[in-house]
Amino acid sequence: MPVVRHYLRCLDCSSEVAASLELACADCGGLFEIAYPRLPEGGLRLPLTALPLGQGGTPTIDFDWPDARRIRLALKLEFLQPTGSFKDRGAAMLVAAAWHDPGASAGSFVEDSSGNAGASLAAYGAAAQLRAEVFVPADAAGGKLTQIAAVGANIHRVDGDRDAVADAAEQFATERGIPYLSHNRSPYFSEGIKSAAEEIAEHGLPDAIVLPVGNGSLLIGLHRGFQELLQLGRIERMPRLIAVQSESVSPVVATWAERSMQQPQPTIADGIAVARPPRLAQMLAALQESNGAAVAVPERAIASAHQTIRERGIYVEPTSAAPLAALPILIEQGIVTQDEQVLVPLTGSGLKSPPIR
Ligand SMILES: [Zn+2]
Repeated sequence: MPVVRHYLRCLDCSSEVAASLELACADCGGLFEIAYPRLPEGGLRLPLTALPLGQGGTPTIDFDWPDARRIRLALKLEFLQPTGSFKDRGAAMLVAAAWHDPGASAGSFVEDSSGNAGASLAAYGAAAQLRAEVFVPADAAGGKLTQIAAVGANIHRVDGDRDAVADAAEQFATERGIPYLSHNRSPYFSEGIKSAAEEIAEHGLPDAIVLPVGNGSLLIGLHRGFQELLQLGRIERMPRLIAVQSESVSPVVATWAERSMQQPQPTIADGIAVARPPRLAQMLAALQESNGAAVAVPERAIASAHQTIRERGIYVEPTSAAPLAALPILIEQGIVTQDEQVLVPLTGSGLKSPPIR
């Protein structure tokens, strides 16, 4: 797999270290971004050749949304990827980084996710002949665990909250001397998602992109992709990036609005139920620099939008309905205006969600 010269740069103190699977800056504890010694030429700069399982190249369709007829809406069907979610773009790159790492000689890696990212990393691990050791909460259930196990990954159930699961994963990795990938902290994951920005630009740049945000890899990846396309002169402006969360778990919206964070509540949008996203500052910068916004939507609006999209023949998971539920709010608040072209990426398939009752 060809490697493009790159290194890791700390987001907080700008320290630079050689390309590796390091997750945090030894000087200050900050998280890294991928940096390149030269400006890109021609295409988007990607650090490694992603593992090819058929990710990317997702279709975009025009769509008539009943509560948002004043805008021109298009949907990018990101769930039509090998494991059924947008995460495949990121997992393809992160597992490629693991494959290149000296630790790969151990033949395995560790990850903590019971969701789409776990399923995606397990599949790309299988493609790279690396065994995925996937740590999940003890009460995790559903189609995603079936999918993780089906491709040969080992599932480790851990009692406690998400932090306890992450701690157990990290400890296991340290004890065995195998890489801990942590897709939320590693910069390779969102770097792989940049390819979505290029596809969006090629299809025709929208005025705004309204997307669900939990750990923010899609938001960060799109922002970095559009930044690079601007540098390349391939686009003349950045689409406004508008983050959507459930009112039940909305740290990004609270911070954006300079409100204090509410105690998290249960949500059907489990893909974005992240109370303490490690890359919060980077997400806020992406919203700011794109002249975007962040809005929270009520649970009942997500459920209603989920039913509407399903009954129009598109079976996605509830998380994917959150941005659709936000459209009337965005129009009402003047965040998107008459006749603007708005793109919503549909991020995850409904097939692995719990059954609809
Ligand atoms: Zn640092």
